[in-house]
Amino acid sequence: MIKACARCGKPFQVSDHPKAGRPRRWCSSACRRLASEERRAAEAGHTAVTFIKEAARLDDQVRAVLDSPSACRRILRELSDRDTRGALGDAKWSSVADELARLRRPSLPTRWRR
Ligand SMILES: [Zn+2]
Repeated sequence: MIKACARCGKPFQVSDHPKAGRPRRWCSSACRRLASEERRAAEAGHTAVTFIKEAARLDDQVRAVLDSPSACRRILRELSDRDTRGALGDAKWSSVADELARLRRPSLPTRWRR
């Protein structure tokens, strides 16, 4: 039988006639050890490992959007449409609505004027 590693998702082979004891959950002893370290860190309230991974992924996505004029245009248009429809009224989106209002203000700060 093939199972997916509970930590890294890699498939691994388990016996169809498992011996007594707990069924295997990890692809390797390295994953078993890391899973136990991560569990202990999480129990101690340190979720930094997961958080840093997520943050890095978000940064990569933002960079990818900023590298693409068409993606930037779509984001700006979509946010503007949402704002017009009142879909940014939620507290969660209020900072985005504020930023849009700032961008729409007709006069630029004095230091940008020529
Ligand atoms: Zn694994």
